[in-house]
Amino acid sequence: MGSYNDESSSDYVSKIPTIKFTKLFINGEFVDAISGRTFETIDPRTGEVIAKIAEGDKEDVDLAVRAARHAFDNGPWPRMSGYERGRILSKFADLIEQHIEELAAIDAVDAGKLFEWGKAVDIPSTAKTVHYYAGAADKIHGQVLKMSKAFHAYTLLEPVGVVGHIVPWNFPSNLFAMKVAPSLAAGCTIVVKPAEQTPLSALFYAHLAKQAGIPDGVINVVTGFGPTAGAAIASHMDIDKVSFTGSTEVGRKIMQAAALSNLKPVSLELGGKSPLLIFDDADVDQAADQALLGVMYNKAKPPFLDAYYIFTNQGEICVASSRVFVQEGIYDELVKKLAEKAKDWVVGDPFDPKSRIGPQVEKRQYDKILSYIEHGKREGATLLTGGKPLETKGYYIQPTIFTDVKEDMLIAKDEIFGPVMSLMKFKTIEEGIKCANNTQYGLAAGIITKNLDVANTVSRSIRAGTIWINCYFAFDDDCPYGGYKMSGFGRDLGMDAIHKYLQVKSVATPLHNSPWL
Ligand code: NAD
Repeated sequence: MGSYNDESSSDYVSKIPTIKFTKLFINGEFVDAISGRTFETIDPRTGEVIAKIAEGDKEDVDLAVRAARHAFDNGPWPRMSGYERGRILSKFADLIEQHIEELAAIDAVDAGKLFEWGKAVDIPSTAKTVHYYAGAADKIHGQVLKMSKAFHAYTLLEPVGVVGHIVPWNFPSNLFAMKVAPSLAAGCTIVVKPAEQTPLSALFYAHLAKQAGIPDGVINVVTGFGPTAGAAIASHMDIDKVSFTGSTEVGRKIMQAAALSNLKPVSLELGGKSPLLIFDDADVDQAADQALLGVMYNKAKPPFLDAYYIFTNQGEICVASSRVFVQEGIYDELVKKLAEKAKDWVVGDPFDPKSRIGPQVEKRQYDKILSYIEHGKREGATLLTGGKPLETKGYYIQPTIFTDVKEDMLIAKDEIFGPVMSLMKFKTIEEGIKCANNTQYGLAAGIITKNLDVANTVSRSIRAGTIWINCYFAFDDDCPYGGYKMSGFGRDLGMDAIHKYLQVKSVATPLHNSPWL
């Protein structure tokens, strides 16, 4: 595999997985689409077909919803104790842990994700998320309420019913768990549509869920395209809630479809253009690492395993720090450091342990990123590093940094969703805050400073759902995350996520002869 700085090796073995599951998973069985149609899922390392996958459409969504409805209305899942549901979910999580290597290999060939990263981070944290919600399943309870003295009142938290989950391709495993696990813990039954670019791991998870003892009909997976299978979920009259992660543009369509059908509630985790503010008092060397890598740097592991930033996951991260604002006192020095350090970001095959950037997920995404890079050049930004595709098959792009970026340039405004960083300069704290907030999005932001007062002021002033101070991408199951503004609403992770899948019911009953008020 060619590489940006010619340091990649070829002494690795691609652990190409055998693809076992290619059909829809409905009512506990793998079945063909009613139409018999299939679509191809592509290996972004080569552009070649990995497998043909059943192409679900409206009729298949109907079948899946019927199965989920039956399991909800008549099956044991919503009726068993939270403890029992938790035990089954724990088994599911254990089974994921037993298949880490296979799942990491599936996401590597289907999504272009680094295999070592998948083994060390993505798949273990997928299992951990399922464990977290297994533990939460028996901790769901309402409140005792104060009514007037003649009544006893309380709230019940009841599962919302049949949930439709629509998932994107950039973290096929983590996002599957973040959506599926809290809804199952809440006692819902579900229909999941993975992204058409990355359908393989979701089908594998469905198989593991069945092995774990999750009853038939509780989890259904319909692979297929957005405007057909996805739209059928959003507009379905018998789906009680839709949880969507993806682009702002499609999020709007989901909301419209929900409004025009049964007024189902929706939660939307959408796009971002997250700012990273680096203040003059930052250690320049560390700040440059943070901008490229992230600061959860742990010397016991290869650095990239703890580092998530604009170049990690090929820049295909909703919270990627794609706008980096540097205070003027250290701007020039930081630019120099970034140029040096960007050379360490070897682009190559995701199975090569030396690679730190794999291929973009698909040709369309690859073309889109390259066209933004061309746009940046035309608009007058200066290319500091990268800017080109690799001259090889597959969808590889060099890590790209632009300097002299102006806030009104397209590369500073649009979500590129690729390894492209825009560097800008600011003078004062107030200007930094203004720049950070100058976006339609509000998903996340990072601040690098040693000054606690600055960190506190800025973190409270930026309108975003997550703020990282002297770190970035510090996710954990207990930390809810989601968007302000056009990055959406609702929260994934934490106990907040479970509440998305619960209805609150108030119950009041008269009190007769109570000794207390
Ligand atoms: P996308 O919106 O194109 O697709 C997401 C999902 O929606 C896919 O499963 C797709 O098939 C489906 N879909 C497409 N059109 C649809 C329609 N008309 N009706 C119903 N479903 C439809 O997004 P993508 O390109 O797969 O993912 C990238 C986007 O996801 C980026 O904007 C990124 O920021 C965002 N994202 C957000 C988060 C978050 O937590 N906020 C996390 C990951 C990705």
